[in-house]
Parts: sequence; structure tokens; C-alpha cells
Amino acid sequence: MFENLIEALEAEGIDMAWQDFANCRGADPDLFFPERGASTRTAKGICRECSVQAECLEFAIVSSEKFGIWAALSERERRKIRKERRIAQNTAKPAELTAPLTIRTGT
Ligand code: SF4
Repeated sequence: MFENLIEALEAEGIDMAWQDFANCRGADPDLFFPERGASTRTAKGICRECSVQAECLEFAIVSSEKFGIWAALSERERRKIRKERRIAQNTAKPAELTAPLTIRTGT
């Protein structure tokens, strides 16, 4: 099923090649999807040394990954980032309102 998701995302033009460089390849999945209350320290340590952490974070945020450790962040930590981005988007002013006015004079 996960392979199908990746294939579907790639079909939409979303580059998933970064996963080839994931530090978690071959790691025990239970580290990244721990039981409730279990330590996430080992998984987060693997993530912090991963060369594609930024790409992984964007994927997890954009695809609203609900479970597990992605890019050294728990679902709660990723939810906070999504909320902050939503707030920033809603309070951002349209570019045309923030750009300086240009007044043209005839002739
Ligand atoms: S940041 Fe963590 S979860 Fe993401 S690809 Fe790297 S090791 Fe895997």
C-alpha cells in the first residue's frame, strides 16, 4: 500500500526520490511508529542525522501524515507546524496590497 501511495504521488508530479537517501531505510519500523508512551529518542536521533530531513518534513506536512516520527517530529509537533502555516497564510496580505503604489502621470 505504501508503494502505491508513492506511485500515486509521483504520478501527480511529486518527486519522492529523496526517499532513496533516507537514513531510516532498513531501520526497525517500530522505532518510527512506537506504541503510545514509548520512547521516540532513537528514531529522532536517526532523523537528525538524515540528509533528506527537510524533504521528509515537507512530505509529512503536505500529506498530513497522522502517525509516526517523520523528520524527527511527532504528529503533535507536525500538527503545530501545520497550524502555524495556516495562521501565516490567513494573515498574509496579498502581494498587490503590500507592493508600493506606482502612480503614472500622463504625457
Ligand atoms: S528524516 Fe527521519 S523519517 Fe525522514 S527520511 Fe530521514 S530518517 Fe526517515
